[in-house]
Amino acid sequence: MQRLEGKIALITGAARGIGAAIAKTFCQNGATVILTDILDVEGEKQRLVCGPTAAYQHLDVRLEDDWKRVTSAVVAEHGGLDILVNNAGITGYVESSGPHDPENLDMASWQAVHDVNLTGVALGCKYAIKAMKGRGGSIVNISSRSGMVGIPGAAAYASSKAAVRNHTKSVALHCAERSMGIRCNSLHPAAILTPMWDPMLGEGEARKQAIATIEKDIPLGYIGAPEDVAFAALYLASDEARYITGVELNVDGGILAGSAARPD
Ligand code: NDP
Repeated sequence: MQRLEGKIALITGAARGIGAAIAKTFCQNGATVILTDILDVEGEKQRLVCGPTAAYQHLDVRLEDDWKRVTSAVVAEHGGLDILVNNAGITGYVESSGPHDPENLDMASWQAVHDVNLTGVALGCKYAIKAMKGRGGSIVNISSRSGMVGIPGAAAYASSKAAVRNHTKSVALHCAERSMGIRCNSLHPAAILTPMWDPMLGEGEARKQAIATIEKDIPLGYIGAPEDVAFAALYLASDEARYITGVELNVDGGILAGSAARPD
């Protein structure tokens, strides 16, 4: 259970959902974890759940000054950074009313989604590389199944996640070419039950029905848990993945494996 012994990890969007599960799993595996988010009350609560090796810092991933402040503080206190998980992300459904389809796109929503999901990741990579220089490290970018396929009802989300998938490889090669010992990989979750789904699922019986409908389209037959992504992040963050950079790992119950339909 100590696969990250001695490592310093920073996780964005860690107040709840997948980021919170990653923070807890990393702490259980011996890491010192800096949880960050814009939800400060929930972030502080999650820090307590994670235990004495956790700290919380406010970090809005869209803001370069926030990245400078937080990574400088981490370097000053711990000497550098070993792991960054760029997890914070938004669908745009809550933040704007849309439309989200390619023909009628609301451009303010398009920009807002890219600001968090893409600019946030690019800034994270930029400042993590500086904080990891001279010691190496692992960057894990949380993309999505939506970064692999078109999603007509969430075009900005899909575009931003596809860009994360590609930027991950640029970062991986940039660091490899300079022998920095910094790896960068992307995770592609799908259908993981977190608060992100709440606006789409409704409540009570309607929620149960909606989950059952989603599960019909998942080859493994059930919706995923945040811990399913956390264990994949744990592997990519650990030294067990020392020869792995620029890859994409799906955590999706088999959705991207293809169609179960018979060819007839
Ligand atoms: P949640 O909405 O539950 O958690 C995301 C967290 O990020 C929230 O606390 C959110 O705060 C925070 N956040 C939003 N904007 C910012 C910002 N500008 N700076 C810092 N933090 C911010 O989402 P999930 O846990 O479900 O998703 C985590 C990641 O996984 C996302 O990148 C998502 O796209 C990806 N993903 C999730 C899937 C799923 O099925 N759940 C599937 C595929 C990918 P706030 O509530 O204020 O917005």
